[in-house]
Amino acid sequence: MTSENTHATLRITGDVLRFRHDPFAQDGALELLGDHSLVIGQGKLLAVLPANEARQRWPDCEEQDYRGHWLLPGLIDAHGHYPQLAITASWGAELLPWLEQYTFPEESRFDRSDYARDMAARYQRLCLQNGITTPVVFCTSHPLSVEAWFEQAEALNMRSIAGQVLMDRNAPDALLRDHETALEEVQNQIGRRHGHGRQQVAITPRFAATSSREQLQGAGWLMARHDCLMQTHLSENPDEIRWMLSLFPECRDYLEIYEKHGLLGPRSLFAHGIHLSEDETRLLAESGAAIIHCPSSNLFLGSGLFAARKLVDAGIPLALGADVGAGPSLNPFSVMARAYEVSRLQSAPLNAAQLLWLATEGAAQTLKLDACIGRLQPGLEADLIALNPQATEALALRYNRAESIEEALFALLCLGDDRMVAATWLAGEQRWSPYSRV
Ligand SMILES: [Zn+2]
Repeated sequence: MTSENTHATLRITGDVLRFRHDPFAQDGALELLGDHSLVIGQGKLLAVLPANEARQRWPDCEEQDYRGHWLLPGLIDAHGHYPQLAITASWGAELLPWLEQYTFPEESRFDRSDYARDMAARYQRLCLQNGITTPVVFCTSHPLSVEAWFEQAEALNMRSIAGQVLMDRNAPDALLRDHETALEEVQNQIGRRHGHGRQQVAITPRFAATSSREQLQGAGWLMARHDCLMQTHLSENPDEIRWMLSLFPECRDYLEIYEKHGLLGPRSLFAHGIHLSEDETRLLAESGAAIIHCPSSNLFLGSGLFAARKLVDAGIPLALGADVGAGPSLNPFSVMARAYEVSRLQSAPLNAAQLLWLATEGAAQTLKLDACIGRLQPGLEADLIALNPQATEALALRYNRAESIEEALFALLCLGDDRMVAATWLAGEQRWSPYSRV
């Protein structure tokens, strides 16, 4: 597999982990290619070859030696709130009181651009440190929180999807913007940022309870007019669902609120989807909309247990999200381990390959980015990570007992943390390693 016409600038050598096929369709999906090189030029992957072959073919380009490490596509975190980074690990509340007590006061601070810039930079640095190369985030309702995010992501050349949170009711005044102003601001952001470099704007109503009918309608209008993704929350918590139905008594269920306002379709990303009715599950599947599963957040807020297997079987696209700050950590391995535990509690356990798929190739498909990222395929963007499978004593002990790739990967997902990430590359540039910080 090579792309011959581009000048190669870098070879990264290690053990290449990749999918042969969708692990939800068939077992035996993973392969580990020992002592292989990823050859990179102009930010793209040019070839995946045995290391000696790559060395002969491109003897002059730089080689980074990660032998003994696993080389993977960068991880995708499909749902998070960068402005909530400083309130992770806040004790004791379910969703609605948690928003009141912790989220809204913190998000109110994002009317200062120095604060927003600082938090955006910290969040993106933590992404790199945790092996995340594509974050999908909510900003706040302040346009400058969006500017701060995109400025930093562009400077890093990090692929990202972000949007200004739309809220015009049921939140503190400091966070509300009238729907016409907010609509204009988002249109402006789409014009300036969407599809520029590696940035995409997502239309981002927080959830139906904090938007008027007019604002939801406006968001639907934006979605129809532009090719942006739409991200919001759906069916996370029983109190939330009761509140929604009291605010929209004309709708028979939560999903219908979004449907009625033009927000349901193949470009819709709904976080959570824990307490869906059979009707809602069917409608989601028919519409092509995706659910972003955020297991660590769901456990932390006591929201409930998501039925991953059932939704996959219904044909609904999924991806994983850390959902910082309700999720206590950005670490994707702990998100995968929690997804396993939640699925295990429902006697339908996801396996290691399926968990990794939901943070790489499967997530890229869900975000309609599979032509750009998510696989080690020549021609795609070289967003990559190197993992040290023996980064800690406990990990090394378990790893060396593993008798298959799947068994070793499962140990990594359960026992690994950011110490396992030996390097992160964005478009072929090494942007983080424990030895050289950005
Ligand atoms: Zn969220």
